[in-house]
Amino acid sequence: MGLSQMQPNSQEPGIHPQLSAEGIYKSFGQFEVLKGISLNAYKHDVISILGASGSGKSTFLRCLNFLECPSEGIVTLDGERVRTRRNRARQLEPSDRKQIEQLRTRVSMVFQSFNLWSHMTALENVMEAPLHVLRMSRSEAKDVAEQYLERVGLAERRNFYPAQMSGGQQQRAAIARALAVDPEVILFDEPTSALDPELVGEVLKVMKGLAEEGRTMIVVTHEMAFAREVSNRIVFLDQGLKEAEGSPEEVMLNPESDRLRQFLARTQ
Ligand code: ADP
Ligand code: MG
Repeated sequence: MGLSQMQPNSQEPGIHPQLSAEGIYKSFGQFEVLKGISLNAYKHDVISILGASGSGKSTFLRCLNFLECPSEGIVTLDGERVRTRRNRARQLEPSDRKQIEQLRTRVSMVFQSFNLWSHMTALENVMEAPLHVLRMSRSEAKDVAEQYLERVGLAERRNFYPAQMSGGQQQRAAIARALAVDPEVILFDEPTSALDPELVGEVLKVMKGLAEEGRTMIVVTHEMAFAREVSNRIVFLDQGLKEAEGSPEEVMLNPESDRLRQFLARTQ
């Protein structure tokens, strides 16, 4: 199915978002990085998050799968609130920690710097979560991992270590790893920013394929063509606030915000 036929569900009444963030604040010490950001991702949404360096994009993404705990705000996955209650020692309640571990298999993440285990082959990297988080047998996990390595065009590289692969291949392996838990939502944090220009295309192509499959994706990116052509919604963050949100046409062709216009003028 092409992108044009694949409409997100956001218009249908009674359907709740797959992932929702409500009023997310995050401070590091005195420094308030996120100042109340809300976002709803519906099934099949591909949301691009744009913004200048330091505007809080990575922190926001990390709050969505609790690599950072929001200082305030609510994250809801498929209608169920993710709780972060703390005991007197300021540690997460065990039941809440368990829920967050489960959440990371439902909301997986692809990082700018790939974050593959260097002592493991591509195959072993992709098998890791199916084995140890989803508790599959070795042969099941291997089947799943091989299937996703094939999906990102790396079947032949499965026994290579990260150091033996190009950046584009490493990032595709990292995407296979994110897919291997069969997540409901995939978060991408500048997945092509660490790549040599000639390797960007192969990663964007895989991501475009995932969008066409109807995967729900939230992508922090500086790739304006990707944001315009592949995402159905664009969010612009500025100094820890959501400064604009809309369709690619609304945000890129008719920007209402001065700050967004300045940002676009610098990047295009
Ligand atoms: P972006 O991804 O948009 O470049 P970040 O979310 O990485 O922005 O960072 C936003 C701001 O928060 C930056 O000023 C950064 O220095 C600060 N920041 C991010 N993580 C931490 C941290 N762990 N401790 C202190 N400050 C942080
Ligand atoms: Mg960042």
